[in-house]
Amino acid sequence: ELKDNTIIIVFGASGDLAKKKTFPALFGLYKNGFLPRDVHIVGYARTKMDEAEFHKRVTSYIKNPNDDAEVASDIDDFKKFTSYLSGSYEDPASFKELNKHLEEIESHYQSKECNRLFYLALPPSVFVPVAKNIKDECYVSKGGINRIIVEKPFGKDLKSCRELIGSLKQSWSEDETFRIDHYLGKEMVKNILVLRFANVWIGAAWDKNSISNVQISFKEPFGTEGRGGYFDEFGIIRDILQNHLLQVLSVLTMERPVSFAAEDIRDEKVKVLRAIPAIERNDTLLGQYVAANGKPGYLQDSTVPPNSVCPTFAATTVWINNPRWEGVPFILKAGKALNESKVEIRIQFKDVVQGIFKDIARNELVIRIQPSEAIYLKMNTKLPGLYTRAMPTEMDLTYKRRFTDTKIPEAYESLILDALKGDHSNFVRDDELDVAWKIFTPILHWIDGQDGPRPRPINYPYGSRGPKELDTFIGKYGYRRLADSYAWPVTHLS
Ligand code: NAP
Ligand code: NAP
Repeated sequence: ELKDNTIIIVFGASGDLAKKKTFPALFGLYKNGFLPRDVHIVGYARTKMDEAEFHKRVTSYIKNPNDDAEVASDIDDFKKFTSYLSGSYEDPASFKELNKHLEEIESHYQSKECNRLFYLALPPSVFVPVAKNIKDECYVSKGGINRIIVEKPFGKDLKSCRELIGSLKQSWSEDETFRIDHYLGKEMVKNILVLRFANVWIGAAWDKNSISNVQISFKEPFGTEGRGGYFDEFGIIRDILQNHLLQVLSVLTMERPVSFAAEDIRDEKVKVLRAIPAIERNDTLLGQYVAANGKPGYLQDSTVPPNSVCPTFAATTVWINNPRWEGVPFILKAGKALNESKVEIRIQFKDVVQGIFKDIARNELVIRIQPSEAIYLKMNTKLPGLYTRAMPTEMDLTYKRRFTDTKIPEAYESLILDALKGDHSNFVRDDELDVAWKIFTPILHWIDGQDGPRPRPINYPYGSRGPKELDTFIGKYGYRRLADSYAWPVTHLS
């Protein structure tokens, strides 16, 4: 439930995440009446700026394309309970000042109970001192709740993750900590549990007996474009696969939880992740984009170190050693500078028993997470007419056509609301992170050159589907593409 008298404090309020995601999400919640009564929002960072400049910055990504008067008036109201304070991240004296500012706001509250939600929109280098300073100087002890939201990256491998989590735990309990993986806030990812456990027919087909292979794909149509410094240190596996795609995988493959309670769900996610052995090198395909079609290659980005062998594309196959999934390959693939923007899950079913049919298409269930949420099942149907001939068609649930009046919430809106309510279901638990890093650390150390020479990624042209070896790689795990004759009638796409 929402707590009245809550202050939300956003650290790193001058930054990119705060401007693009955190404040627009807070505004979205406010506009729809989902923020606690008498809420206040306080931005904090080192940058000195006056309130007007701060307000301009944090509302710059709030959409009001038609200059709607109501939205404009909501933005004005939003500014009234949003303030800014500048200070250091390391110096306790700054946090004493912040605490004074918070107490001043709280002195106007009618009841004594005060609650504080601290949101760290900061680079990881300052996570630990900020978490400690908040605990030492800004923690409300009398009756209210204190919660802290942290963002990835949670370390670079198993060891550094354990160190980071261990340091944060010295100040904050697991119950108070909300680790964001924003994919868990996406509508279609949240839908997976309902799809799987509220539909008998999906439940019945959800195992190695029916499913041949699964692909979870992330495709981005642009490269690093000047942000290569940060990216090069992490690479595509740490950026996308180890966190976002693995989270999707765990929800897709976990056993049915006893209830929708956070710990019941997270127990099942951890259990399935623990059944996944570390990824093998020969189950891995790495790529790096090169210049094509007038677009620069990765190495031409001046913020990328010369001769970097950092992968901008990776496909890795994960196996789950449990009775439900034994032998089913789960291909996690992600890349930058590809031909399109897309995040999807593609579940390919096994061949139907031959005999009366020959070379008939496989069923495929596609869950498109973004853009334009959709679920479609490719299935064989008798071609209408006087002959009996099967042809692949589809059952299609395209959200924007089916849910015409519904606005799909932003992932950050959904997650901040959960944190305000104290619901951990869609946040990453400490043991979940630990096991996620165990799966990926060996190949990451190999790619980083810690066990010998660094593997060279395969070049692929900017704007392509990835390295040309991709189709052979996926074919090796049993994926069979439908004949080219299958096409979705374009008229259906709105
Ligand atoms: P950012 O803009 O680089 O940093 C946020 C703020 O932190 C900056 O405005 C700056 O504020 C301060 N800062 C930057 N570098 C610092 C340093 N070396 N030492 C101390 N303070 C520093 O980062 P961001 O993109 O907002 O991301 C914040 C966190 O969210 C990161 O953990 C990131 O991985 C995660 N994240 C970001 C996105 C995104 O879309 N940007 C998406 C997912 C996760 P002052 O100089 O004013 O103090
Ligand atoms: P698709 O574009 O045919 O992609 C199917 C798979 O084939 C993807 O995994 C893709 O790999 C791969 N692929 C694409 N081009 C390839 C190539 N040249 N060689 C080898 N593999 C290739 O799309 P679909 O999802 O199966 O559906 C078919 C069409 O129907 C699409 O246009 C789709 O948008 C449309 N459709 C739309 C809806 C809807 O909007 N609700 C519903 C049903 C169907 P990568 O992922 O690696 O690129």
